[in-house]
Amino acid sequence: AARIADAPILPRDEAFAITLDFQSDPTPEKVSLGAGVYRDENSEPWILPSIKMAKSVVERSLDLNNHEYLPIAGFDPFLKVARELVLGNYNTSNSHVLSIQTISGTGANHLGALFLAQQLRPRNVFISDPTWGNHFLIWQTAAPHVIQEKYPYYDAQTRALNFEGMTSMLENAATEGDVVILHACAHNPTGIDPTRDQWRSLAQVFKRKKLFPFFDSAYQGFATGDPEEDAWAVRHFHEVLFEDGPGNTPQGMCIAQSFAKNMGLYGERVGAFHLVLPQDTPSTGPYSQLLRLVRAEISNPPLYGCRLVYTVLSNPTIRAVWYEDLRKMAGRIKGVRSMLKQEIEKHENVGDWTHLTSQIGMFSFTGLSKDQVQRLRDKHHIYLMSNGRVSLSGANEGNVKCIADAIAEVVQ
Ligand code: PLP
Repeated sequence: AARIADAPILPRDEAFAITLDFQSDPTPEKVSLGAGVYRDENSEPWILPSIKMAKSVVERSLDLNNHEYLPIAGFDPFLKVARELVLGNYNTSNSHVLSIQTISGTGANHLGALFLAQQLRPRNVFISDPTWGNHFLIWQTAAPHVIQEKYPYYDAQTRALNFEGMTSMLENAATEGDVVILHACAHNPTGIDPTRDQWRSLAQVFKRKKLFPFFDSAYQGFATGDPEEDAWAVRHFHEVLFEDGPGNTPQGMCIAQSFAKNMGLYGERVGAFHLVLPQDTPSTGPYSQLLRLVRAEISNPPLYGCRLVYTVLSNPTIRAVWYEDLRKMAGRIKGVRSMLKQEIEKHENVGDWTHLTSQIGMFSFTGLSKDQVQRLRDKHHIYLMSNGRVSLSGANEGNVKCIADAIAEVVQ
């Protein structure tokens, strides 16, 4: 046996480290633009009105208010509405979908990586450069034999999507059965998504080369404020890849779905993994393998959050309130983007900040350097990721001018 005491010390996870550093900073004017969590206009956590309504329904319901174990796959009524939320009313004669409840989006990414590493055994997994840092870690731990390749995504010069670089990498370096992770909408950390035409052309590359798309859907409804709109890319891939039947398609596609952000249920850990297979692919084997992985890891998923999500999505009145909640969150972030741009550009020699308003979702990739980020923290008590990503939810009418003045000071 090895000596536990010899375990090498790893660096802290940056996202969580920033939050801790921020909390221990005694300066009253400090601002957190680090964590990817929504905050209201007073920088407070927001419990969605739709979730408050769902809570009271769950508490009053005999069927939903108990503490029994769920089945290994999770709460079936939840899985059904979750699947419909992301895939819409799809044509069930071309494909079928296996759904498993997971520990939020992270658990879904992890289950997917484990399952694909064992049953698809791809040579490579292609991950966008940059991406949510956990993608690398998850694939490293769950699928250590799969080679990680970064595909170009962000062009720092133009502050736009490097679509040509991305496509040519997938065309030239990816081979049949390779997995490609795609952010379904509101790409983290860049806030830049492909246009519909670009998604259309990507879907053709996946189809022709039989690449396996792995959609990470952590922000449905958060990007535009409309969950239908935000699901467009996933639904388009689903339609295009499976419409021709077997032979001309990849072996499948999958989706890691999170309800952390769009329902404000961060700590409840509600998510789902959906595996889409062509209609004539037998599903009993793959499904039994998924259940085996869940059994070994968590036996069965937690109850409370999935009951809330089920209630929101299945009750038309509460669902309508949720749509309103989404519009409110996305709308506030959009407003903050233009205020921040305006305030920064009031200063001289700060350059063009149009990217703030053209990017979408909770994050903006500011283009600030590591040194500038450090100065923002040391001199102005403003905390953000060292790659220059800001979470706009930490900004509001009260602090946006201070943030803008500080950014102007470090870039001038
Ligand atoms: N995927 C992306 C791209 C994310 O940004 C996040 C959260 O920040 C997640 C997945 C998963 O989050 P959670 O496990 O809280 O659902």
